[in-house]
Amino acid sequence: MLKITEIFHSLQGEAAQAGLPTVFVRLTGCPLRCTYCDSAYAFTGGDWMHMDDILQEIGRHGTRHVCVTGGEPLAQKRCGLLLSRLCDAGFSVSLETSGAVDIRQADERVIRVMDLKTPDSGESDRNRWDNLAALTPRDQVKFVLCSRGDYEWARDRVAEHALAERCEVLFSPAWGEVEATDLADWILADHLPVRFQVQLHKLLWGDVPGK
Ligand code: SF4
Repeated sequence: MLKITEIFHSLQGEAAQAGLPTVFVRLTGCPLRCTYCDSAYAFTGGDWMHMDDILQEIGRHGTRHVCVTGGEPLAQKRCGLLLSRLCDAGFSVSLETSGAVDIRQADERVIRVMDLKTPDSGESDRNRWDNLAALTPRDQVKFVLCSRGDYEWARDRVAEHALAERCEVLFSPAWGEVEATDLADWILADHLPVRFQVQLHKLLWGDVPGK
Protein backbone atom coordinates (compact mmCIF):
# COMPACT_ATOMS: atom_id res chain seq x y z
CA MET A 1 0.00 0.00 0.00
CA LEU A 2 1.06 3.56 -0.73
CA LYS A 3 -0.59 6.82 0.26
CA ILE A 4 -1.56 8.70 -2.86
CA THR A 5 -2.68 12.31 -3.23
CA GLU A 6 -3.58 12.12 -6.90
CA ILE A 7 -3.05 10.26 -10.17
CA PHE A 8 -3.61 12.40 -13.25
CA HIS A 9 -2.79 12.72 -16.93
CA SER A 10 -1.08 15.87 -18.19
CA LEU A 11 1.93 17.13 -20.11
CA GLN A 12 5.27 16.79 -18.37
CA GLY A 13 6.11 20.37 -17.47
CA GLU A 14 9.75 20.01 -16.51
CA ALA A 15 13.11 18.37 -17.14
CA ALA A 16 14.27 16.65 -20.31
CA GLN A 17 10.85 14.97 -20.72
CA ALA A 18 9.03 18.34 -20.92
CA GLY A 19 6.08 18.31 -23.28
CA LEU A 20 5.47 14.55 -23.23
CA PRO A 21 2.00 13.27 -22.27
CA THR A 22 2.58 11.65 -18.89
CA VAL A 23 0.67 10.05 -16.03
CA PHE A 24 1.65 11.61 -12.70
CA VAL A 25 1.47 9.67 -9.47
CA ARG A 26 1.71 12.09 -6.56
CA LEU A 27 2.62 10.38 -3.30
CA THR A 28 1.48 11.98 -0.07
CA GLY A 29 3.88 13.47 2.47
CA CYS A 30 7.14 15.44 2.51
CA PRO A 31 9.65 16.07 5.32
CA LEU A 32 10.71 19.41 3.78
CA ARG A 33 8.99 22.80 3.66
CA CYS A 34 10.51 24.74 0.77
CA THR A 35 9.50 28.41 0.63
CA TYR A 36 8.20 28.10 -2.94
CA CYS A 37 6.43 24.76 -2.60
CA ASP A 38 3.52 24.40 -5.01
CA SER A 39 2.53 20.95 -3.72
CA ALA A 40 1.70 21.71 -0.10
CA TYR A 41 -1.69 20.06 -0.62
CA ALA A 42 0.24 16.77 -0.78
CA PHE A 43 1.74 17.14 2.72
CA THR A 44 -1.24 15.47 4.37
CA GLY A 45 -4.39 13.58 3.49
CA GLY A 46 -4.31 11.22 0.54
CA ASP A 47 -5.74 7.72 0.18
CA TRP A 48 -4.08 4.37 0.77
CA MET A 49 -3.98 2.39 -2.46
CA HIS A 50 -2.83 -1.14 -3.26
CA MET A 51 0.06 -1.39 -5.70
CA ASP A 52 -2.07 -3.30 -8.22
CA ASP A 53 -4.79 -0.64 -8.13
CA ILE A 54 -2.19 2.10 -8.71
CA LEU A 55 -0.86 0.26 -11.76
CA GLN A 56 -4.38 -0.32 -13.06
CA GLU A 57 -5.25 3.37 -12.71
CA ILE A 58 -2.04 4.39 -14.48
CA GLY A 59 -2.73 1.93 -17.30
CA ARG A 60 -6.22 3.38 -17.79
CA HIS A 61 -4.68 6.59 -19.23
CA GLY A 62 -2.94 4.79 -22.11
CA THR A 63 0.33 6.71 -21.80
CA ARG A 64 3.87 5.31 -21.85
CA HIS A 65 5.45 7.88 -19.58
CA VAL A 66 4.92 7.85 -15.83
CA CYS A 67 6.29 10.41 -13.37
CA VAL A 68 6.33 9.52 -9.68
CA THR A 69 6.34 12.73 -7.67
CA GLY A 70 5.19 14.26 -4.38
CA GLY A 71 5.65 15.51 -1.80
CA GLU A 72 8.82 13.51 -1.43
CA PRO A 73 7.93 10.11 -2.92
CA LEU A 74 10.97 8.33 -1.49
CA ALA A 75 9.75 9.17 2.03
CA GLN A 76 7.34 6.24 1.62
CA LYS A 77 9.19 2.95 2.02
CA ARG A 78 7.30 1.13 -0.73
CA CYS A 79 8.02 3.77 -3.38
CA GLY A 80 11.05 1.79 -4.55
CA LEU A 81 8.84 -1.23 -5.20
CA LEU A 82 6.34 0.89 -7.13
CA LEU A 83 9.14 2.24 -9.34
CA SER A 84 10.40 -1.27 -10.09
CA ARG A 85 6.89 -2.56 -10.83
CA LEU A 86 6.35 0.31 -13.27
CA CYS A 87 9.64 -0.43 -15.04
CA ASP A 88 8.78 -4.15 -15.20
CA ALA A 89 5.44 -3.22 -16.78
CA GLY A 90 7.29 -1.44 -19.60
CA PHE A 91 6.66 2.17 -18.66
CA SER A 92 9.25 4.89 -19.11
CA VAL A 93 9.52 6.07 -15.51
CA SER A 94 10.85 9.27 -14.00
CA LEU A 95 11.09 10.20 -10.33
CA GLU A 96 11.03 13.73 -8.91
CA THR A 97 12.87 13.82 -5.60
CA SER A 98 14.00 16.55 -3.23
CA GLY A 99 17.56 15.28 -2.87
CA ALA A 100 17.05 14.94 0.88
CA VAL A 101 16.58 11.14 0.74
CA ASP A 102 18.90 8.37 -0.51
CA ILE A 103 18.17 8.04 -4.26
CA ARG A 104 19.70 4.55 -4.37
CA GLN A 105 16.26 3.28 -3.37
CA ALA A 106 15.12 3.97 -6.92
CA ASP A 107 15.49 1.29 -9.60
CA GLU A 108 18.42 2.00 -11.96
CA ARG A 109 16.02 2.01 -14.92
CA VAL A 110 14.30 5.10 -13.50
CA ILE A 111 15.23 8.62 -14.62
CA ARG A 112 15.88 10.39 -11.34
CA VAL A 113 15.26 14.12 -11.39
CA MET A 114 16.89 15.25 -8.18
CA ASP A 115 16.69 18.73 -6.67
CA LEU A 116 19.58 20.41 -4.99
CA LYS A 117 17.92 22.84 -2.61
CA THR A 118 19.26 26.40 -2.73
CA PRO A 119 19.68 28.75 0.27
CA ASP A 120 16.47 30.67 -0.51
CA SER A 121 14.45 27.45 -0.54
CA GLY A 122 15.01 27.41 3.22
CA GLU A 123 15.99 23.73 3.02
CA SER A 124 19.57 23.69 1.69
CA ASP A 125 20.86 22.02 4.83
CA ARG A 126 18.74 18.96 3.89
CA ASN A 127 20.73 18.23 0.71
CA ARG A 128 22.26 14.76 0.82
CA TRP A 129 25.49 15.45 -0.98
CA ASP A 130 26.38 11.74 -1.03
CA ASN A 131 23.56 11.32 -3.56
CA LEU A 132 25.81 12.93 -6.17
CA ALA A 133 27.98 9.82 -6.31
CA ALA A 134 24.91 7.77 -7.29
CA LEU A 135 23.94 9.94 -10.28
CA THR A 136 24.27 8.51 -13.77
CA PRO A 137 24.01 10.16 -17.20
CA ARG A 138 20.33 9.08 -17.23
CA ASP A 139 19.60 11.34 -14.25
CA GLN A 140 19.06 15.08 -13.96
CA VAL A 141 19.89 17.55 -11.19
CA LYS A 142 17.52 20.48 -10.85
CA PHE A 143 18.05 23.85 -9.15
CA VAL A 144 14.94 25.96 -8.52
CA LEU A 145 16.23 29.52 -8.18
CA CYS A 146 14.62 32.30 -6.13
CA SER A 147 17.21 35.09 -6.54
CA ARG A 148 20.52 36.14 -8.02
CA GLY A 149 22.15 34.84 -4.84
CA ASP A 150 20.60 31.42 -5.44
CA TYR A 151 21.85 31.51 -9.02
CA GLU A 152 25.42 32.22 -7.95
CA TRP A 153 25.24 29.47 -5.31
CA ALA A 154 23.98 26.98 -7.91
CA ARG A 155 26.56 28.06 -10.47
CA ASP A 156 29.33 27.49 -7.93
CA ARG A 157 27.97 24.04 -6.92
CA VAL A 158 27.85 22.99 -10.59
CA ALA A 159 31.53 23.88 -10.94
CA GLU A 160 32.60 22.49 -7.55
CA HIS A 161 31.04 19.06 -8.15
CA ALA A 162 31.53 18.95 -11.95
CA LEU A 163 27.80 18.24 -12.11
CA ALA A 164 27.45 18.75 -15.85
CA GLU A 165 29.91 15.89 -16.37
CA ARG A 166 27.77 13.54 -14.29
CA CYS A 167 24.34 14.24 -15.75
CA GLU A 168 22.11 16.94 -17.20
CA VAL A 169 21.75 20.03 -15.00
CA LEU A 170 18.53 22.06 -15.02
CA PHE A 171 18.15 25.68 -13.88
CA SER A 172 14.58 26.79 -13.32
CA PRO A 173 13.21 30.12 -12.02
CA ALA A 174 10.98 29.77 -8.96
CA TRP A 175 7.51 30.76 -10.12
CA GLY A 176 7.01 34.48 -9.40
CA GLU A 177 10.45 34.93 -7.76
CA VAL A 178 12.95 35.37 -10.61
CA GLU A 179 12.27 36.74 -14.09
CA ALA A 180 12.83 33.95 -16.61
CA THR A 181 14.60 36.36 -18.95
CA ASP A 182 17.02 37.42 -16.19
CA LEU A 183 17.92 33.79 -15.50
CA ALA A 184 18.38 33.11 -19.22
CA ASP A 185 20.70 36.13 -19.51
CA TRP A 186 22.78 35.05 -16.47
CA ILE A 187 23.24 31.54 -17.86
CA LEU A 188 24.36 32.89 -21.24
CA ALA A 189 26.70 35.49 -19.71
CA ASP A 190 28.45 32.83 -17.62
CA HIS A 191 28.46 30.20 -20.43
CA LEU A 192 27.03 27.63 -18.06
CA PRO A 193 26.68 24.01 -19.26
CA VAL A 194 23.10 23.80 -17.97
CA ARG A 195 19.63 23.59 -19.46
CA PHE A 196 17.31 26.52 -18.78
CA GLN A 197 13.71 25.54 -18.23
CA VAL A 198 10.41 27.07 -17.23
CA GLN A 199 7.51 25.11 -15.80
CA LEU A 200 5.53 24.44 -18.96
CA HIS A 201 2.38 23.28 -17.15
CA LYS A 202 2.18 26.60 -15.27
CA LEU A 203 2.46 28.58 -18.51
CA LEU A 204 -0.38 26.50 -19.96
CA TRP A 205 -2.72 26.19 -17.00
CA GLY A 206 -1.39 28.36 -14.14
CA ASP A 207 -0.46 27.18 -10.68
CA VAL A 208 -3.26 24.69 -10.08
CA PRO A 209 -3.29 21.14 -8.67
CA GLY A 210 -3.72 18.18 -11.03
CA LYS A 211 -1.97 19.85 -13.99
S1 SF4 B 1 10.59 19.00 -1.46
FE1 SF4 B 1 9.04 19.47 -3.02
S2 SF4 B 1 7.07 18.86 -2.10
FE2 SF4 B 1 8.59 18.99 -0.43
S3 SF4 B 1 8.35 21.06 0.40
FE3 SF4 B 1 10.00 21.13 -1.16
S4 SF4 B 1 8.99 21.70 -3.07
FE4 SF4 B 1 7.37 21.03 -1.63
